[in-house]
Amino acid sequence: MSGIYIHIPFCKQACHYCDFHFSTSIGKKEAMVNALKKELAMRRGELGNETVETIYFGGGTPSVLSSEEINSLIQTVFDEFKVAPNSEVTLEANPDDLSEEKIKELAQSPINRLSIGVQSFFEEDLKLMNRAHSAKEALESLKLATDHFDNISLDLIYGVPDMSNARWLENIETALSLGVPHISSYALTVEPQTALASFIKKGLVKNVDDEVAQEHFHILVDRLEKEGFVNYEISNFGKPEYFSRNNTAYWQQKKYLGIGPSAHSFDGTSRAWNINNNPKYLKAIENGELPIEKEVLSVTDRYNEYVMTGLRTVWGVSLGTLEKDFGKNFKKYALQQAEKHIAEHLLYLDGDVLLTTQKGKFLADGLAADLFMLNLSDD
Ligand code: SF4
Repeated sequence: MSGIYIHIPFCKQACHYCDFHFSTSIGKKEAMVNALKKELAMRRGELGNETVETIYFGGGTPSVLSSEEINSLIQTVFDEFKVAPNSEVTLEANPDDLSEEKIKELAQSPINRLSIGVQSFFEEDLKLMNRAHSAKEALESLKLATDHFDNISLDLIYGVPDMSNARWLENIETALSLGVPHISSYALTVEPQTALASFIKKGLVKNVDDEVAQEHFHILVDRLEKEGFVNYEISNFGKPEYFSRNNTAYWQQKKYLGIGPSAHSFDGTSRAWNINNNPKYLKAIENGELPIEKEVLSVTDRYNEYVMTGLRTVWGVSLGTLEKDFGKNFKKYALQQAEKHIAEHLLYLDGDVLLTTQKGKFLADGLAADLFMLNLSDD
């Protein structure tokens, strides 16, 4: 089982907090689609005989592509790889691209899951983030999308400066009223080199507050769990049967092929990443070269990744897996490092599986970092 991720590196405008790879020069869209198709063909052998179970269009903003362009990319995947008949095919889309006509066209295509970048239903938050859509567009696109798609996820951002608990709860209630079966929700983070970082530095925007973000997170978990959502990964909430198969495969260390500028791939033992520069990517592909760098993961790297994803998800860190895949010393070390956090009720053992408690969940990344192996050799 494996997946294909296709990165569409274009956005209409730059959101103030974003440090993903994208360009606002949409003029190169057609050339990019052709290059993506060529890269898919060039890498056809990389998945061997494996069946592709998930296809994911991420970005950037994949919904800036026309339905014809999206369909032609999906067709190339079907032509070059063995795709499971019940595969999950997700498109990340922004509300301002989702006209009724576009939604109807997408519903006719193999796309069977939409991930909609709403972020907030409040105008003041959207302005602060410099999103391309309005609160009205967010609501309208979601209403239209639910008429044609059953498997919809929406993104919401919390911990936004000046967002009160009441306003955050209202965002959650609006999402719930739309009946979507999946919500991805992230704390606003201030990445260096972003417009948001510079506004905060100049005192034009208040800094984000970790305590507020933590409070918002707990409001979110409490409210969504009451509605039957499972917080299966720290930022992801799904009704049973609606967990993202694409993301679950990442977290369970399945193979995937990343196509397009800045896309990452994993083949079970090594990670690879494409160049994050559109003109250089286009030139290389035009010349029949793959602009890719590769790193073979050491045992320590694989242990650290397993601990990180394990503590972020409901699957936890299995002590049996630690011993089987990494050896007794890794298991012993993990348990020893976890001890103080178990005493503080941030982690707990369920049989042989180490998990975060409700209180520890928001701190999962820091807890995982405490369990990381830093300077030991791999023998
Ligand atoms: S639409 Fe998404 S990828 Fe594009 S700038 Fe905004 S957050 Fe970043």
